[in-house]
Amino acid sequence: MVVSIPRAGAALGPRPVISDADYAAGPYWACDATLPAADPGPPPAAVDVAVIGAGYTGLTAARETAQAGRSTLVLDAGPIGGGCSSRNGGLVAFSIKPAHAVLAARHGAAVASRIYAEALEAVASLKALARDEHLDCDWRDAGCFVGAHTARHLRALVRDSAAPPAGLGVPFEVVSEARLREAIDSPLYRGGVLYPDEAAIHPLKLVAALALRARAAGARLCAPCAVRSLARTPGGFELATAAGPVRARQVLIATNGYTGALSPWHRRRVLPIGSYMLATEELERAQLERLIPQGRNVGDTRRVVVYLRPSPDGRRILFGGRASAAEKDVRRCLPRLRAMLAEIFPELARVRVSRAWMGFVGYTFDTMPHLGEQHGLYYCMGYCGQGIPSATYYGRKLGLRMAGRAGGDTALAGLEFPARPYYLGRPWFLPAAVLGYRLADRLGL
Ligand SMILES: Cc1cc2nc3c(=O)[nH]c(=O)nc-3n(C[C@H](O)[C@H](O)[C@H](O)COP(=O)(O)OP(=O)(O)OC[C@H]3O[C@@H](n4cnc5c(N)ncnc54)[C@H](O)[C@@H]3O)c2cc1C
Repeated sequence: MVVSIPRAGAALGPRPVISDADYAAGPYWACDATLPAADPGPPPAAVDVAVIGAGYTGLTAARETAQAGRSTLVLDAGPIGGGCSSRNGGLVAFSIKPAHAVLAARHGAAVASRIYAEALEAVASLKALARDEHLDCDWRDAGCFVGAHTARHLRALVRDSAAPPAGLGVPFEVVSEARLREAIDSPLYRGGVLYPDEAAIHPLKLVAALALRARAAGARLCAPCAVRSLARTPGGFELATAAGPVRARQVLIATNGYTGALSPWHRRRVLPIGSYMLATEELERAQLERLIPQGRNVGDTRRVVVYLRPSPDGRRILFGGRASAAEKDVRRCLPRLRAMLAEIFPELARVRVSRAWMGFVGYTFDTMPHLGEQHGLYYCMGYCGQGIPSATYYGRKLGLRMAGRAGGDTALAGLEFPARPYYLGRPWFLPAAVLGYRLADRLGL
């Protein structure tokens, strides 16, 4: 066994929560990549465009506005890319959650079909960007296996995979229980579906590459520099930032799961939900290749989300899920996260963990991303845990819209961004919902 990353040490306090938890807190991705540096010095006093949030959304939007000749400033309360964009699992998939029929009932068949076409285009555009600009992000056409935890769920999964109209579905292949070991060596599943077109990336390398490109286009990156308040002025907005006031003609809120008191209208519409991940110690290559043949991404049909994949070097399993009913320190979630991994691979019940971390994804009440302009403020957020293709795709669209350039049209523009009574930004109902989902999963419902 090789554990080449630092031990938990002082950062985690003197008492490990589980006996063999000599893990380091923080994303596994930081082992071989570093967050992009901010530009030195204070922010300029006035810009055309201020982008709040330096993740995939903000950086792709900033690249477009800067390329269009607008002076562009990207501000982040933490490090550049330090939100979800450097903490995720790196699974690149078709990322619209509602079924086509559900969207057709809500918005009409034509809009539903446009939304689906854009979701397909989002994955294709990211792949093209990675290829054409030689993005250093460990892109791998890994494919994804989704396991069905009951025979009924397998039937539903196959039915749902085949449901979109012609040309709007994702290619798939059914894996029967008899052939399960070709896809995964797990006793948990009764078969599943393979999606060969899905991919895996290194998320931190991706955000670093996007930061480089935004900067090369002329955007200025300022961090750590929280925006504390926003006030409307005759010519746009005045931002009170940690480094002083900044005037901006246009402002983009790109804060997703980290949306806070700065923009109460958005905060009422985005639910910050913790997603937790661990990286195992190094496994024997043969073991990993047996557990996840061909190194695919893996998800399943249970309601409490889980996802896993091999690390880019093919030596560890990176496993994630909704481990906590309430938001907790990742240390306290680790035993549950390990137990969730062991449900899929019982032989890993005692595997050592090398890294553990979490981040806040941004959910919405209609499980759809949203973008647009509200009271003069632009926004783009709500990817519901699947933001790699969506944030890069819609971030670009929004940047084009802000710059008044062609190509910013999207089926999402103009869709209502729903709120709920009694929801002001703290998802108090989440613990009960997660417990209900866990029970439903246990009962195979
Ligand atoms: C553990 C985990 C696993 C995930 N796995 C996947 C996956 O496998 N596939 C996938 O597609 N998606 C995944 N996601 C989701 C994906 O990472 C996000 O949807 C995506 O990164 C969102 O990008 P973003 O730029 O909108 O937001 P973020 O990258 O979260 O950036 C928002 C930024 O806003 C900043 N901010 C907030 N308030 C202020 C303020 N007042 N002033 C200045 N800055 C502010 C924050 O500091 C933060 O850096 C995962 C997320 C997590 C947490």
